Amino acid sequence: MIAYFSDIYHGLISLLVGMGITFREFIKPPVTVAYPYETLTMCARYRGHIELLADDEGNPNCVVCGLCERACPSECISITSVKPEGSKKKVLTGYTLDFTRCSLCGSCVESCNFSAIAFSREYNLASSRKEDFHIDLFKRLEEKKR
Ligand code: SF4
Ligand code: SF4
Repeated sequence: MIAYFSDIYHGLISLLVGMGITFREFIKPPVTVAYPYETLTMCARYRGHIELLADDEGNPNCVVCGLCERACPSECISITSVKPEGSKKKVLTGYTLDFTRCSLCGSCVESCNFSAIAFSREYNLASSRKEDFHIDLFKRLEEKKR
């Protein structure tokens, strides 16, 4: 008889403890977001794919030195440029990244002495098409400028 009431007592205590935890979590602010309708801001050290950086007028900081292209161990950067007549400097015309091969090692960012590339905070990249990971960074920068 004592064991019977003891079981009921411990069951009740356990139920109240459980309900207490549920209620405490219920009134806490949510830590999740309704993805994909809401997205999180990534922390400063997050490494998304690289992106080109621009000056105040929106022109790329890149001077087409080619160091990042050579520093990449996965050969995923391709740069194209032209040298306008009478100019000593090359002008960037294309900068593509094959993100399927990128290991986010950071060698390209470290090799750039002109603050022309950085890791983006981009994480919304899910796709079933391989082509979507061949990213035209120059075009992205041009679109941002507009
Ligand atoms: S290292 Fe920097 S400046 Fe040189 S090509 Fe790469 S992004 Fe451009
Ligand atoms: S992060 Fe590494 S693998 Fe990715 S593009 Fe830069 S150098 Fe290449």
